[in-house]
Amino acid sequence: MRPRKIQPAWRVLAIAGAAAFAILAGEALADDEKPATASSVTTQQSKIRVAIIVGGHGYDQKPFPAMFEAMKDVEFVIRTAQEPDKPHLFDDPNNFPYDVIFLYNMSNKLTAAQGENFLKLLDKGVGLFVCHHAITGFQDWPDWPDLIGARYFLKEEMFRGERGIRSIWKDDVDLKMHVEDANHPITRGLKDYETCDETYGKWRFLPGNVLLVSTEHELSNKQIAWVRPQGNRRVFVLQAGHGPLAWNNPAFRHLLSQGIRWAARRLDGKDKEKKEHAQP
Ligand SMILES: [Zn+2]
Repeated sequence: MRPRKIQPAWRVLAIAGAAAFAILAGEALADDEKPATASSVTTQQSKIRVAIIVGGHGYDQKPFPAMFEAMKDVEFVIRTAQEPDKPHLFDDPNNFPYDVIFLYNMSNKLTAAQGENFLKLLDKGVGLFVCHHAITGFQDWPDWPDLIGARYFLKEEMFRGERGIRSIWKDDVDLKMHVEDANHPITRGLKDYETCDETYGKWRFLPGNVLLVSTEHELSNKQIAWVRPQGNRRVFVLQAGHGPLAWNNPAFRHLLSQGIRWAARRLDGKDKEKKEHAQP
């Protein structure tokens, strides 16, 4: 959780993002490798289109996209949250070409209109995956804590009538993780596991979340992964995921891929089937 000046990161990432976008736009791909069109995203065979939003925090830029490339049912673009020379991703909710928004950004701003459009997209069925330092992705936007079910305190502040002291973080901590709910589509098939990752402590977990993964480490809040039920929205938050050590853990890959699929509503059919088979 190290905030970084946005401008230099933006310059580098904008180039990387633009390159990824150009490739995904089809310039370098054969016809059958081109991304799905807007009309074909509802078919079972189409790939899940993920808009990854970064910016405001550094990350290891080579292995990060490789994780998404390893998911054969996913195609993605990497965009920065603030790109002054481009329309904002949330400017036009009627022409949003992605199934899932994957946030790996920190402390980015949203105008009131962009915030409204963001919520509109989620209400229309676009899924949301909030990963690691993106717990502060849109920190100053008033709807943010209720959307993700958490408040990380970047500084001491009053929050809902109580004083929150500054949250804490520590890199490279050995952790034992416990699967709280093995029946949820995201955690089904996942067993308790060990990993090494960055911990966040002394942040607020709001009522109304469904906890999927937890830890008992003293430097960490108990809550590691959860979903936040709210109408038609699909919101999954995963505190884990600081860098390659954590990213290469098979349990993290499970949560990453199943979380994306769940957010994209691609696990619904299988869930229904399972439930139907479970009937006597
Ligand atoms: Zn981190």
